[in-house]
Amino acid sequence: MNIKIVVLGAGVSGLATAWLLNKKGFDVTVLEKNKEAGGAMESVLEDGYMFDRGPNSGLETVPVIKEIVNEIGLTSEMVYANEMGNKRYILRDGELHPLPMSPPAFLKTKLFSAKAKMRLFAEPFISRSNDGYYQSIAQFVKRRLGQEFLDYAINPFVAGVYAGNPEDLSVASAFPKLYELEEKYGGLIVGTIRSISERKKRKEQSKQSAKMFSFLNGMQSLPKTIAKKLGERVVPFAEVRSIKKNEKGFSVSYHNAGFDKKIECDLLLSTLPAYVTSSLFKDIDSNLANHLDAVYHPPVMVLYLGYKKEDVGRPLDGFGFLIPAKEKKSFLGAIWSSVLFPNRAPEEAASFTLFIGGSRNADIFKLDKEIILKTVIEEFQSIMKIKTEPVHKSYRYWNKAIPQYNLGYIEHEKYFDEFEQNNPGIFLSGNYRGGISVGDCFKNAELVAEKISKFSESEKRKENKPEGV
Ligand SMILES: Cc1cc2nc3c(=O)[nH]c(=O)nc-3n(C[C@H](O)[C@H](O)[C@H](O)COP(=O)(O)OP(=O)(O)OC[C@H]3O[C@@H](n4cnc5c(N)ncnc54)[C@H](O)[C@@H]3O)c2cc1C
Repeated sequence: MNIKIVVLGAGVSGLATAWLLNKKGFDVTVLEKNKEAGGAMESVLEDGYMFDRGPNSGLETVPVIKEIVNEIGLTSEMVYANEMGNKRYILRDGELHPLPMSPPAFLKTKLFSAKAKMRLFAEPFISRSNDGYYQSIAQFVKRRLGQEFLDYAINPFVAGVYAGNPEDLSVASAFPKLYELEEKYGGLIVGTIRSISERKKRKEQSKQSAKMFSFLNGMQSLPKTIAKKLGERVVPFAEVRSIKKNEKGFSVSYHNAGFDKKIECDLLLSTLPAYVTSSLFKDIDSNLANHLDAVYHPPVMVLYLGYKKEDVGRPLDGFGFLIPAKEKKSFLGAIWSSVLFPNRAPEEAASFTLFIGGSRNADIFKLDKEIILKTVIEEFQSIMKIKTEPVHKSYRYWNKAIPQYNLGYIEHEKYFDEFEQNNPGIFLSGNYRGGISVGDCFKNAELVAEKISKFSESEKRKENKPEGV
C-alpha cells in the first residue's frame, strides 16, 4: 500500500491499532519512549510473586481481542479468571457482603436495607432526565435507584473502575451504556432486558457477561508479544519531542539512544496519554492542548501484598472487595490476585492487590508514604482477619493514573472530533477517548484502524480523479 503511518506510543491502544493497520498493508512505525512496550500494562515478577502494577485483567468484550491473541501466538498463555471471581464483596459496617447477583440473593442481602430494596422497584416508573449530558453518575443513580444504591453499589464500583468519584464523572461519557439504557429505552431494568438481543446481533459481550482474562505472566505479555511480532516496526527508547506538518504529510522529531532523529510520514496516529499529546500538538492547535490539559488524571498507588495462606483468617472465595466512601477507609479496595489467576504467588502464599488514592482520596499522598502503607495494611488486615505481617510487599505509584471522564467531557470529545476534521491525516486515540478499559482500547483500535483505512481510500480516490471532474 506504501502509505507511511507513524503511531505514537506502544501502550495497548497504539499496539493493537498498529497490528490491525499493519495487517491492512500500511507501512507502520511505532515510537515508544520506554524500553518495553505496554504503557499502563506493567507486569513484574518479584520473589515468586507476579505483580500487575497496572490493569490486573481485561474483559473480553469484543472478538478482536481473541483474534489478535491468536494471531500473535499467545493463546496458550491466555487465562480466564477462576469462576469464584464472579463473587465480589462490598464492605459495609466493617463486614464484607457479597454483591447480590440474582433476584433471590438481592432480596436476602444485608448489603442494602429493606427501604433501598423497595426503592428499586420504582425504577421502571422514573422518567428520563432533561439534563442529558450534563449529569453525573451520582445524580443519575440517585434519581433512578436512590441514595443507598449510590452509596453502597455505584460509589465503590466507580472507585473500582475509574478510581473516580461518582459526583464528578459524567454518566454519558464515563458510562455511555448505562446512559443509553435510559435515553433509548426509558429505564435501566427495561433497557437491560431489551439491549441483550441487540448486543448479540453486534457480537458484543456486555461488561457484566464478558469473560475476564489475563496471561500466565501478567497483562504485559499482550503488548510485549504484539511488539515482538511487529519487530523493527516498534522503536523503543524513542521519545517523541515535536510534530510538524509539511507538504507531504508530517515530520516527527524524537530522541533515540542519545540522538535527535526525524521520521516523515503520510499519516499520524497519537495514542499518547492526554497530557503528553497536549504538549506535542500545542503548536498545531492550542485549543486542543487546552482541552487535553483539562482531563484530570488522579494519582493512584497500587500495593501488592503476599501472606502465607494459613495466616488469612477469612475464606478466599471471590474477586476481592470494594470499599464505599461512606466506610471512611484509607484505600479503595483489594483484588484477591492469587484466587483469580494462576501463577500470581508461590504455592503456599496468597497475594492481594490494593488500590489507594484516586479522585476520592488524592490528598492522601500529602502524607508520608510509609504512614500511608502502615495505615492501609492495618485496615486491610483487620478486614481480612490477618494477624501477621505480609511476607511480601511492593508498590507502584502512578502520578497520573486514569483519565476521568468528568462532567462536561462532551465538550472535549466534540473538540477531539473537530480537531481531526480540521487536520486531515492526524488521528487521536488512547484511553481518554472512547473508554479507559483494556476492552475499550481494543474496540477503539478496531474503529480507528477502520477510520484510517477509509480516510486513505478516499484520499486515493481524490488523487486518481481526472482534473475537471
Ligand atoms: C493502576 C491502573 C489499573 C488499571 N486497571 C485496569 C483493569 O483492571 N482493567 C482494565 O480494563 N483497565 C485498567 N486500567 C486502565 C487501562 O490499563 C488503561 O486505560 C490502558 O492500558 C491505557 O492504554 P493506552 O495505550 O491508551 O495508554 P498507555 O498505556 O498510557 O500508553 C501510552 C504509551 O505512550 C508512551 N509515551 C508517553 N510519552 C511518550 C513520548 N513522548 N514519546 C513516545 N512514547 C511516549 C508511554 O510510555 C506508553 O507506553 C488501569 C489503569 C491503571 C493506571
